Amino acid sequence: MSELRKEYEKFQEAKRQWLDKRLPRTYFQDQEARYVHPFQIFGNVWYVGDSWVCVHLIDTGDGLLLLDGGNIGATAMLVNAIWEAGFKPSDVRWMVLSHGHLDHIGGAVFFRRMFGTKIYLGEPDARDFRKHPELSLVHEAGSLAHDVFEVDHEITDGERIRFGNTEIQFYLTPGHTDGVISAFFDVTDGRRTVRAGYFGGFGFNTMRKDFLLDIGDTAFRTRQIYLDSLAKVRDQKVELFLGNHCGNNHTLEKAEMLRAGCKDNPFINSTEWGAFLDQKRDEMLALMADPEQN
Ligand SMILES: [Zn+2]
Repeated sequence: MSELRKEYEKFQEAKRQWLDKRLPRTYFQDQEARYVHPFQIFGNVWYVGDSWVCVHLIDTGDGLLLLDGGNIGATAMLVNAIWEAGFKPSDVRWMVLSHGHLDHIGGAVFFRRMFGTKIYLGEPDARDFRKHPELSLVHEAGSLAHDVFEVDHEITDGERIRFGNTEIQFYLTPGHTDGVISAFFDVTDGRRTVRAGYFGGFGFNTMRKDFLLDIGDTAFRTRQIYLDSLAKVRDQKVELFLGNHCGNNHTLEKAEMLRAGCKDNPFINSTEWGAFLDQKRDEMLALMADPEQN
């Protein structure tokens, strides 16, 4: 083995160990194994995410909107998925990020610099990026993430924004992070119009005891904030529940059903949203009742 090769192997091993201490490495390496062939969900909404993190593409008739930015380190896959779906990555005018975590902001820097894509993020997470970039976890990602990116528009609670033919109603639904957004909009296939709903962050990883003590939330207030957020949007009319991660709405199982020629679109279901938000509420209540978490 050449000296250079040995040096390189040493460097790679050190990087692996460094990552392992901070992040579950499996989520950020060998990502091509999680590539998903893009597919049309309904009307102008397409799936261009991987098998873990969702990314939705909306063809607004006046440019493309990406709902979320994909996993850090997976931007080449995102670009490929957009091409494979029959669109051009350079037509992505807007990227709306669900929240400021590494597995959702992957494409932000690249799309902004390469295509001039405007980046949208909930105001509290954007503020954290500005004032406390050290809390963004970007530094935890080693060489996967180079920069804390700039946000072009900070989304506020109740804001309604038009993107081409699609008007999106936004709410801030904090808990998982302070700036998690939720989004609601109409989708049509020309014959039928349904209301889509998206909740931008369900994960409990940031609401467990150790994490909350670490960030100074000794009264665990974040958990009640999360419950309040679920309640806030629970009764929105949602007929098309879009996942933030595939597990939220069984994205891949439904994709299989679509591929198999299922007559009724499995993504269209008027009870799924409420049932899932209730499930998350019950799971949070169980966590709050767990002596080991208090
Ligand atoms: Zn997150």
